Amino acid sequence: MDNNDYQEAVDFAIANFEKIEQSLPNSIKEREEKLFGKMLSRKLNPLNNLRMLYSEIDIIYSHLGKMIVCDRGCSHCCYQDIAISELEAEYIFKNTKAKRVRPEIVPNELNGPCPFLENHQCSIYPFRPFLCRRHVSLANSPRWCEQDVCNKYEFPLFSSSEVDKSYAYLLVSSQKEKIYNNIRQVFR
Ligand code: SF4
Repeated sequence: MDNNDYQEAVDFAIANFEKIEQSLPNSIKEREEKLFGKMLSRKLNPLNNLRMLYSEIDIIYSHLGKMIVCDRGCSHCCYQDIAISELEAEYIFKNTKAKRVRPEIVPNELNGPCPFLENHQCSIYPFRPFLCRRHVSLANSPRWCEQDVCNKYEFPLFSSSEVDKSYAYLLVSSQKEKIYNNIRQVFR
C-alpha cells in the first residue's frame, strides 16, 4: 500500500460518506434529529438510557450495511485500543458477568486482541461499547483497518453528531464519564 493507494481510499471514503448521507431514508433522519431530545427527557436510570441509545444507534447505522466494508467475521478493529467509559464497563459487567479487574495504569502495554474476541467474533456483541458500534469504515477495503496499517494512516469514519452529543450527555449526566483508554484495562 503506497500513498497513491491511500489517497484513492480517502477519496473513496469521503465520497462514500456523502453517498450515505444522501441516501439516508427520512425515517432515519427524523430518528436521528429527535435522539438528543429523547435523551434529555429520559428519567430512567443511566444503564437503561444507555440501552436505549445503543438501540437507536443500531437502527440508524443499520442503513449503512451494504455501503461499507465492515462485515461479520472482520475483527481488525478489535486489535486496537478501544476506549470505554465507566458506565459502559458497568453495563457489560451487569449483562454478561464478564470479570472486571482493577484498572491498569499503563494501558500502552496491554495489547493483543480484545478479551471479548472469540473466533473473530465479538462474544458480547449486544453489549459492546459505543466505540465498537461507531467504528464504521468508509474506505474501499478492510485492509486499511489492519493494525499495522491503521496506525500509519487516518481515515474519516461514519459519524452522527446527534449520536455523539447524546452519548456525551449521557456520560456526564450519569456521573460515570470516567474513560479508560483501553478496554483491556478493566476486562481480561
Ligand atoms: S467489545 Fe467486541 S466489538 Fe468491541 S473490540 Fe471487543 S470483541 Fe471487538
